[in-house]
Amino acid sequence: MKIVLLGAPGAGKGSQAELIKKEYGLAHISTGDAFRSNIARGTDIGKIAKAYVEKGMLVPDEIVIEIVKERLTHDDCKNGFILDGFPRTIPQAIALDKIIKLDCVINIKVDNEIVTNRISGRRACRGCTQIYHISTYSKETCDKCGGKLYIREDDKRETVLNRLEVYSKETAPLIDYYKDKNILFDVDGSTSIAHTFEQVKEVISKLKI
Ligand code: AMP
Repeated sequence: MKIVLLGAPGAGKGSQAELIKKEYGLAHISTGDAFRSNIARGTDIGKIAKAYVEKGMLVPDEIVIEIVKERLTHDDCKNGFILDGFPRTIPQAIALDKIIKLDCVINIKVDNEIVTNRISGRRACRGCTQIYHISTYSKETCDKCGGKLYIREDDKRETVLNRLEVYSKETAPLIDYYKDKNILFDVDGSTSIAHTFEQVKEVISKLKI
């Protein structure tokens, strides 16, 4: 199964991708995590990506496309994968179409006001990238790996507003792009993670693969 998760920052793509990974044994590919890891390790890609990621701007297409192309050759993608945060522009979607045939694109719909509130309470683990929300988790360290929690640079309020603008200008056009291919399915991401996942499973169960 080859799935793309679409949705504004804070829509819950990462949480749904982790649940799909567990339920169906697919690889979870997050381009955002790939950039954060490259930045933390100080790689050449990380050095280029840092300024874009911290300002909430998109990293140039050719860099992201190369990263994804290489990642899709890994063994864990043989069973299928979930792309979380890629594609984010029409040229990225066109490049992806040249590499593989997608089974479905799940569009997680959430209002801007909800995502802004969600992101401002978000904490990430420096060790394993696990995300928590201050409304349900008050510790300063990660339950999974013990790593220290922090506020991602791009989760700060001004940057979030910029990311939402970039999303509506650059990424939202992908909704029509995939609608035209008849592979787009909407789910409501404004309630709980569990409720959204029920809808995701229903979409997947109806796919003819
Ligand atoms: P995310 O964790 O998916 O919200 O991604 C964090 C940041 O990584 C984004 O704001 C961009 O700066 C960069 N990024 C992630 N995926 C892409 C992509 N497909 N194209 C360009 N930049 C990306």
